[in-house]
Formats: sequence, structure tokens, C-alpha cells
Amino acid sequence: MIQSFLRFTKSLMLIEMLRGMRLTGRYFLSRKITIQYPEEKTPLSPRFRGLHALRRYPNGEERCIACKLCEAVCPALAITIESEQRADGTRRTTRYDIDLTKCIFCGFCEESCPVDSIVETSILEYHGEQRGDLYMTKDKLLAIGDKYEADIAAARKQDRSYR
Ligand code: SF4
Ligand code: SF4
Repeated sequence: MIQSFLRFTKSLMLIEMLRGMRLTGRYFLSRKITIQYPEEKTPLSPRFRGLHALRRYPNGEERCIACKLCEAVCPALAITIESEQRADGTRRTTRYDIDLTKCIFCGFCEESCPVDSIVETSILEYHGEQRGDLYMTKDKLLAIGDKYEADIAAARKQDRSYR
């Protein structure tokens, strides 16, 4: 009986509504934490790991020597490599695929690579519209590497990823 009376009094005096308005007022005056993406962007950690890229040397030669360390270390089994020996005795990949739908962006591939070939950029704005769009072939990975090589090289000198 007393409980019901108290509840009735509270609702009559609009206590709950006033509490809600006080909370709204507090956030109304505080600094906004929402941003207008994509025009505005939040800061990115220098350790962020995004889209992969395969790099070349300045003379255009692929860095990858098909040692398959990245394939072996990948915990998600996302990397598939096939290779062959060239006439000059060097070994290069004939196939280098990364299935981004399996990848967990752990960075092990990048860390294991002895020639700094496979890297993870800080590119995060990519998407796929069809089955297979996120299956990164060697050509796609090399194209990303070619496009962003200057930025990747500069970022790696400073020991950070590239956005
Ligand atoms: S980032 Fe990790 S999960 Fe993704 S391909 Fe490299 S090793 Fe595999
Ligand atoms: S990307 Fe690096 S670790 Fe992977 S096969 Fe090529 S050289 Fe080896």
C-alpha cells in the first residue's frame, strides 16, 4: 500500500522525467563523440593492420622468394602459395593468394617474411560486392604494393603501418 502510494507520488511529480532530462542536459552540453564519417575520421593506431600488399624492389623485381614462411605461420590458413624455380635458379611464386574472408589480420605473415615482401597497410576502406572480391590474388596484391610503395616504404622507415 505504502509502495503504491510512493510510486503514485513519484509519477505525479514527474521525478523520472526530470531525472531523464537532467541526463539529457548533461550530454547536451558535453563534447560530442560522434563524427561525420567518411568526411571526418578518427585517429588510427600506428599498429593498425589493414589490407595486404606484396612489394617489389626498386628495379621492379618481386621481393617474395617463395619461402612459404607466411603460409606456414598463418593461423587462419588464409594464404595459398605455389612456386617454381626460374631459369636463373631463383624461386618465385606462381600463385600467391590471401583469402581475406578467412584472415584475422594477426600480422604473423608480415612478421615472418624475411624480405619484407608481404605487408599489411593501414588501408581499411575496401569492400567486396561479389563472391571472390575479397579473395586477393598475387596480381591484386602486387597492384596494391605498386600503388602505395612510396608510402609503405616511408612508413616502414618510421616503423609504423601506412594508411
Ligand atoms: S594477417 Fe594473419 S591471418 Fe591474415 S593472412 Fe597474415 S598470417 Fe594469415
Ligand atoms: S611473402 Fe615473404 S614469407 Fe611469404 S613466401 Fe614470400 S618471401 Fe616467404
